[in-house]
Amino acid sequence: MRKPVDPSSLTAWTEGSISMWLRILRAVVCGHTAGHIDGPAAKRSLASSWPHCCSPWSPGINNQPQRVPVNQLGYNNSFATDHPKYELRFGKGGVDDAEDAEVIVHEYGHAIHFQSSPTFYGAGEESGAIGEGFGDYLAADVTNIFAPTPDPACVADWDSVSYTPGPVHCLRRLDEPKMYPGDLDGRVHDEGEIWSHALWNLRTALGHVHADTAILLTQIGQDNPTMPSLATDIVATVHDLYGAGAATAAEAAFEDRGIPAS
Ligand SMILES: [Zn+2]
Repeated sequence: MRKPVDPSSLTAWTEGSISMWLRILRAVVCGHTAGHIDGPAAKRSLASSWPHCCSPWSPGINNQPQRVPVNQLGYNNSFATDHPKYELRFGKGGVDDAEDAEVIVHEYGHAIHFQSSPTFYGAGEESGAIGEGFGDYLAADVTNIFAPTPDPACVADWDSVSYTPGPVHCLRRLDEPKMYPGDLDGRVHDEGEIWSHALWNLRTALGHVHADTAILLTQIGQDNPTMPSLATDIVATVHDLYGAGAATAAEAAFEDRGIPAS
């Protein structure tokens, strides 16, 4: 259920905080990974930095320390969890996952969902797909603000060199021609490319600050959303914050992927 957004209540902390938060996220995550530092150092740095980096969000989003075990999974995968405790875990093998900033930010996207709503991920498959798509979007969003690559829609360029044949290496992409609902196939990472493409469209239409503000605020308090339900709520938030013209552009961003948003 979307909470109506009063634009006059937001100016003190939303857009400015989003820009600040993304900058610090980039500095904390990408600054470390760019140097390929060892796992214990990454863990120590992330854990100690987060309480400071997220304080601008108060009363905000995911304003808490992040537990980040690095290189303790014996396989080449990573995940975020809130059970039995809240943490992001990064595996090793191929390219160790915590070497790739976009893998880290993807998992942090799941952490944002855990904090934004305890019932965000429900029994419905689409909420899982939205989670994967949002993580990919956030990863590309953050890195393309501060360290643009020649192929901005490519996610996890560095991690994927170890398991994709090339010459282009991407774990997933934000510009796949997938459509809702025809490309729902029961696999959340595949389906997430529908949602991430729609969010990328929104970012193109509104710019990253307005797009990220609307996306992040709308995710608060969601209960097992579907793509149409969350898209409709995001468009409503865009209308609240930025007016009818922006809402029309937002609706088109989702409907470009076949997602009804009104
Ligand atoms: Zn994921």
